[in-house]
Amino acid sequence: MRIDLHTHSRASDGTDSPSELVRAAVDAGLDVLAITDHDTADGWDEAAQAASETGLTLVPGMEVSTRHRGRGVHLLAFLADPSHPELAAELARVRGGREARVPTIVGRLNDLGIAITEDDVRRASHGTAASGRPHVADALVTLGVVPDRTAAFDRYLGWGRPAHVDRYATPLEDMVRWVSEAGGASVVAHPWGRGGMGRPDEETLAHLQEIGLTGIEVDHQDHDQRARAELRAIARNLGLVTTGASDYHGDGKLDHDLGCNTTEPDELARLLEAADAAAAASGRVTPDVVNR
Ligand code: AMP
Ligand code: FE
Ligand code: FE
Ligand code: ZN
Repeated sequence: MRIDLHTHSRASDGTDSPSELVRAAVDAGLDVLAITDHDTADGWDEAAQAASETGLTLVPGMEVSTRHRGRGVHLLAFLADPSHPELAAELARVRGGREARVPTIVGRLNDLGIAITEDDVRRASHGTAASGRPHVADALVTLGVVPDRTAAFDRYLGWGRPAHVDRYATPLEDMVRWVSEAGGASVVAHPWGRGGMGRPDEETLAHLQEIGLTGIEVDHQDHDQRARAELRAIARNLGLVTTGASDYHGDGKLDHDLGCNTTEPDELARLLEAADAAAAASGRVTPDVVNR
């Protein structure tokens, strides 16, 4: 069983359409795929339709932008009902912050002498509800300003670079609670990764677990072997689920091929049990796992 629980499509900043993502997962020999676009469930229907025409098991999820102690934290939310009122309102607020940021970033780039327009960014973002810096990066590539996304982040868009602009993100603890209330299970994405939440220690993770956190993403390209071993030990102590995933973005991120990290079947079973328990407790209608 090959299980990849963190991937992006063009519904956010990946470069494959949701159905292309599903086909790529089948081609990569995966048995289970989670689609986890940033702050939106927009890719779910197309991905579910595509998966139902194959044997691939599809887990609908999202990667939600949150904040904890002043730092950005990505929270994977699996099988939550996206129409849960607080969750829906908060996701809309996060996406609003993404939209509002685009003109500011474009203005900063213009000040640097780069002739980029908001339309250039909209063209690069394929109508996504979750426009992000990668789309600005793609527009800069199209304009010939930089060779690739990475260069755009290194020169202009990354933290501390001249066109970096902050945006709204949900307080982490609130989002952990809302995902549970919406019948889903949450997992901190790349907790010790680049540009993540620093190094949340065992005490912090234990507190998050008390309010509903199900697991942590241990096997991720941002974690070296030592970080993985330490995170796995913390998860074992606390009884948190551990996941592994590629964080695939199509052509948008190098060295993140589908299946480059995977989740153990037992851990997936525990994750799905946690989501089932949350759904039963909340009484909400949550999305189906396709080909479960
Ligand atoms: P945003 O959500 O708009 O703040 O942009 C953050 C996203 O940009 C992350 O989720 C990554 O997918 C992507 N990203 C961050 N750093 C890089 C990089 N150096 N190269 C390519 N993509 C990146
Ligand atoms: Fe991304
Ligand atoms: Fe992330
Ligand atoms: Zn991601």
